[in-house]
Amino acid sequence: EAKRTGNRICFHNKQLAQAERQRSDLLKELKVALTNESLSLVYQPKYSADKLRITGVEVLVRWHHPYHGTISPAIFVPLAEENGLSRILSEFVVTKVAKELPATGLLGNAIPHVSINISATEFNSAQAMENLYDFIQSQAQLAPYVRIEITETATLNDIGKSSALIRSLRDRGLSFSVDDFGTGYTSLAMLKDVTVDEIKIDRSFVAVIDSDSRARTIVSAVIAMASNFRIDVVAEGVETEAQLNTLREMGCKQVQGYYLAHPMPIKALVEHLEVAQTH
Ligand code: C2E
Ligand code: CA
Ligand code: CA
Ligand code: CA
Repeated sequence: EAKRTGNRICFHNKQLAQAERQRSDLLKELKVALTNESLSLVYQPKYSADKLRITGVEVLVRWHHPYHGTISPAIFVPLAEENGLSRILSEFVVTKVAKELPATGLLGNAIPHVSINISATEFNSAQAMENLYDFIQSQAQLAPYVRIEITETATLNDIGKSSALIRSLRDRGLSFSVDDFGTGYTSLAMLKDVTVDEIKIDRSFVAVIDSDSRARTIVSAVIAMASNFRIDVVAEGVETEAQLNTLREMGCKQVQGYYLAHPMPIKALVEHLEVAQTH
């Protein structure tokens, strides 16, 4: 097979080499971006399902590249992670949030807490988590309101260890959310052994909530279990009024998604809240 299609393999190798070069260019540029002002933050609120009051905001990072335009974090966060830049990225995000959000006077008032995403590699190192904790504590006006979002797959390595780490950090005031809930293989084990403040039902369930009765059954069961454990449930990726209404009927208490608000820069967030408050 390899010999017969020798030319094709050669062609693939060339493509691979090119892709590899693009990645290493991107990595060099990312290192620069982390030191200048080409990364920025956007904030996406989440809301109570009934009255649509803001229950918190989630921070999402953006990279404005000079040639490629805005590069998705789905691309550059894994690149950062693979190249030992997770700590720098997280510290950048924490520093920037600390600069932007407490200054609005909304944090702890109209915005009860702020959620920060961290990578799996960071969560899987107890030392990295201690560093992050200390770094967050050094931002006194921000620290009491920080919630950490980890993905379910991050806890998959070792549920016992993950559970102990989360317990220790929660005892010291940090709150935790499990992102993309339902997409891993450990959802039930997670609920059984790890005490968190919130789970976010992955948007792949929400997307089919009106067409797939099995997805609906799973989401109902998750809502029921979480409520028994006093864990908040957020449905993410809500894009339509129909989805919102179905989730309400199912007893889901919090929602997030484009139907409610897109992620937005700090200035737009402040305006958004001013409008919301006068209604
Ligand atoms: P995530 O944490 O699951 O964040 C939700 C993603 O879905 C965001 O994409 C958001 O813009 C998008 N989204 C929100 N509402 C809707 C909706 O109604 N429909 C659809 N289709 N999408 C919606 P984004 O900003 O591109 O982020 C992608 C992922 O990158 C995030 O997924 C998160 O895992 C990661 N990420 C983002 N910011 C950071 C960061 O500061 N640090 C780390 N470690 N990861 C980050
Ligand atoms: Ca998230
Ligand atoms: Ca998610
Ligand atoms: Ca995700």
